[in-house]
Amino acid sequence: MSESVLVTGSSRGIGKAIALELSKSGYQVVIHYLARQEEAEEVIETIINYGGEARSLQFDVSNREQSKKTLEKDIAQHGAYYGVVCNAGISSDSAFPAMSGKQWDKVIHTNLDSFYNVLNPITMPMVRRRKPGRIVTLASISGIIGNRGQTNYSAAKAGIIAATKSLAIELAKRQITVNCVAPGIIETEMIDDLPIDQVLELIPARRAGSPEEVAALVNFLISPKSSYITRQVISVNGGMA
Ligand code: NDP
Repeated sequence: MSESVLVTGSSRGIGKAIALELSKSGYQVVIHYLARQEEAEEVIETIINYGGEARSLQFDVSNREQSKKTLEKDIAQHGAYYGVVCNAGISSDSAFPAMSGKQWDKVIHTNLDSFYNVLNPITMPMVRRRKPGRIVTLASISGIIGNRGQTNYSAAKAGIIAATKSLAIELAKRQITVNCVAPGIIETEMIDDLPIDQVLELIPARRAGSPEEVAALVNFLISPKSSYITRQVISVNGGMA
């Protein structure tokens, strides 16, 4: 059986593109979602239609108990993953003085606590395989240079970058690489509310990126070819920073 890779938040957007790309590379992909079951099933159907292997998992990455229970059960049934892409995330933008505590907490719990909630139950089983493994996290340009209206999101993504680098140091001698991909503006539902004309002015490439352009990099970082790349943050942003 082929090696398996869990992609959180792969019912749509960047996660879906990553799942499809990894499946074309021959990995068995675990499609994960929060609420959009139908879209997750469509991704699985697409993969199966072109001869790939996929199954689905549903849990809220901001819920520690639910994440642990679901992941431990899946690993007990199917074995430890070769790779994990921590992609699920949300934004909830507001100028800081107007930002509610709820907005702050939800973005931190979903985008940052999920690093612990998803990776903690998975890491030890990966180590016990005694084989190479791959972890890729999704940060954002906001976590590197900050962004107006995104104090919550930037803080979570900067946290992801630091946590990724620390975990990379811990796992390097186990042949498990841990890297972070930091997209700029990518065409998904997440950017639906952005004033796109103003935003394009900030992008030297003068266009938003596609989910597939992020997926190509993640696919390389998951592949055996990236074995000596770890603890890195790699941007996909059309030259924004
Ligand atoms: P989308 O909004 O298109 O998709 C989000 C995905 O995450 C969905 O699959 C959704 O599941 C899942 N998800 C959301 N909340 C939870 C939760 N609490 N528990 C489990 N799953 C959840 O996002 P993008 O594809 O745009 O973003 C993917 C990643 O890339 C995120 O981490 C984002 O921060 C990052 N990013 C995106 C950029 C962009 O411009 N689009 C720029 C920089 C970074 P469901 O479908 O079931 O709701």
